[in-house]
Amino acid sequence: MELPPRIAIASHNAHKLREIARICADWPVAWLTVENHEGPWPEVEETGSTYLENAHLKAGAVAAALGLPTLADDSGIEVDALGGRPGPRSARFAGEDATDERNLQELIRALKGVPGSGRTARYRCLAVLASPEGEEVAAEGICEGILRTKPRGVRGFGYDPIFVPAGWDDTMAELTDEEKDRISHRGRALRALRNVLEADGPS
Ligand code: IMP
Repeated sequence: MELPPRIAIASHNAHKLREIARICADWPVAWLTVENHEGPWPEVEETGSTYLENAHLKAGAVAAALGLPTLADDSGIEVDALGGRPGPRSARFAGEDATDERNLQELIRALKGVPGSGRTARYRCLAVLASPEGEEVAAEGICEGILRTKPRGVRGFGYDPIFVPAGWDDTMAELTDEEKDRISHRGRALRALRNVLEADGPS
């Protein structure tokens, strides 16, 4: 698939929408989101068990409903001491309608008794671009790090106040937007997706 001139973003998460807008600011694309679209926006249930399945479900359903190529990001945090959990269930770690704050507190609770050296984790993001005709391109981005048990910083969202990216002393919530986008799973996935689309484009 080539880079389309108009792309919808299949997300209701205002933090994700803001980060995607920043990371993709130099893409020659007009973006359609739930925030600037007039009319009903399709609701999609994340019933998959992997990031790829969920990203595929979200991008495919919105592309079919709006008749526009659609980008979806499915992402989460994988904690080694918890066997990779919460993973694709990161948004629902503390229950179906849990807030970011409740999920964060739940993760801090789950880390009790895990020594600092064992609190390795990573963020993973699967970015999928689906066309209304059913064509699809996917790319993955990973950001390795360790977890603190006391939150620090007010930027970012989700688990950022306890996630310290590899090579940094600050939590993700203490980094500037530019610093986060440069190293984040989302930044990496979206830049990789663009590379794939450009490799498919006219030469
Ligand atoms: P999704 O909407 O099902 O993809 O859920 C993503 C969830 O993963 C979010 O609700 C957060 O809990 C977590 N997450 C994903 N990306 C980030 C990030 O950049 N910072 C903090 N938490 C994140």
